[in-house]
Amino acid sequence: MTPVVVVGAGPVGLSAALALRARDLPVLLLEADPEDRERPGSRALFVHRETLALLDAMRPGLAGEITSYGRTWHTRRTLYRGREVYSRTFPPSSGRPPFTSLRQVDTERFLRAACERAGVDFGWNARVIGVRSTASGVSLSCADGREVTCGHVIAADGARSAVRAGLGIPMEGTHGEGFHVVVDVADRPGAELPLERVFHYEHPGAGGRSVMRVPFTGGFQVDLQCHAGDRAEDFGTEEAVRRWLPVVVGEGYEDHADRILWVSTYRFLRKVAASFTDPHERVLLAGEAAHLFPPFGARGMNSGIADAAAAAEAVATGAVAGFAAARRAAALFNSEAAGIALDHLRPRRRIVRLRQRAAAALAPVLPSCGSWLEHAPYGPRTGVPVPAGGKY
Ligand SMILES: Cc1cc2nc3c(=O)[nH]c(=O)nc-3n(C[C@H](O)[C@H](O)[C@H](O)COP(=O)(O)OP(=O)(O)OC[C@H]3O[C@@H](n4cnc5c(N)ncnc54)[C@H](O)[C@@H]3O)c2cc1C
Repeated sequence: MTPVVVVGAGPVGLSAALALRARDLPVLLLEADPEDRERPGSRALFVHRETLALLDAMRPGLAGEITSYGRTWHTRRTLYRGREVYSRTFPPSSGRPPFTSLRQVDTERFLRAACERAGVDFGWNARVIGVRSTASGVSLSCADGREVTCGHVIAADGARSAVRAGLGIPMEGTHGEGFHVVVDVADRPGAELPLERVFHYEHPGAGGRSVMRVPFTGGFQVDLQCHAGDRAEDFGTEEAVRRWLPVVVGEGYEDHADRILWVSTYRFLRKVAASFTDPHERVLLAGEAAHLFPPFGARGMNSGIADAAAAAEAVATGAVAGFAAARRAAALFNSEAAGIALDHLRPRRRIVRLRQRAAAALAPVLPSCGSWLEHAPYGPRTGVPVPAGGKY
């Protein structure tokens, strides 16, 4: 019997496999996709310093590999209706940077190579369709007829987790109104945009929609926050993006048809699994199998990797109930923080927009107003008690 099976080779499953190997536990990683799959889009860009520390503990040197490929910017700017209300350039930090930014597919590439070096056993084309947990272990059935038995399962099979569904664990929470469009654009060699993160409230060139631009190695991600009545076909297709993108990106990107790498739309979901384990404490849910957060604040992948580290420790020490309680508390904390960000980004009350407008007007004389406009879209990182089990 395999001691531990990880389901799903996304960033969370790969991290869980690595963390198990760091504890010398044999691990089989089952992934529905084929070995040569191509994952789309930049998606999770930020890898926070705390996450880098976790990854380095799983495989010494991994954080250095990731940061030397990723990009760290030192300038953050916020604009309101075309006027700058905040700009700050921080000195480069000595030692590990506060974060690094790279496409999720690149992070996964580093994680997968580390797993291969660490001796993780991969089972590709292995879609799990059934799970049975008992006091003595877990049996998994795959779509191709494979049956696997093991002592514990770390389920990192994403938002539509078949393992979670098989255990009958519901997701609890809400979904936000409206949608965002996310676009990856390749850098124009020799005419790269400044290395800075820019948030623009009510961009005049985008009909008053808010726009964020975030660099990553080789390009940048643009996030357009659509209005409540907008239709996806008017903003979220490649043809529609060609119309609005040059206005929000600016000079040098007019002829950018060949520079668009990926276009997608998403809605804000805030959901947390009712339990992070089954009654026999044999299956541990991690990452998006356990929680869904809006991307603003970069809580998704970062908290998923923290789940992965905690799950591996729980399997090694037998403290599964403690894992489930601590990581669910962390997820509820993150969900709350994401809700605060959401109330700022998509205010339900007119007074919030008026406050933002007033802060923008006062920012030139009251820097704290500009600072509030800069920080609020991402929600709090501190200020709310951090539950046991970690920040993310
Ligand atoms: C636009 C956007 C921007 C984002 N930005 C950020 C960010 O800046 N920072 C951040 O932290 N997060 C961000 N996120 C969220 C981040 O992308 C997710 O949190 C992350 O992908 C979750 O990783 P995961 O490993 O839990 O799940 P996934 O990445 O979904 O991986 C699940 C894996 O399981 C496999 N699988 C599924 N079902 C089965 C099955 N039945 N059997 C076997 N295998 C299966 C899938 O093929 C996949 O490989 C963003 C998301 C979006 C959409």
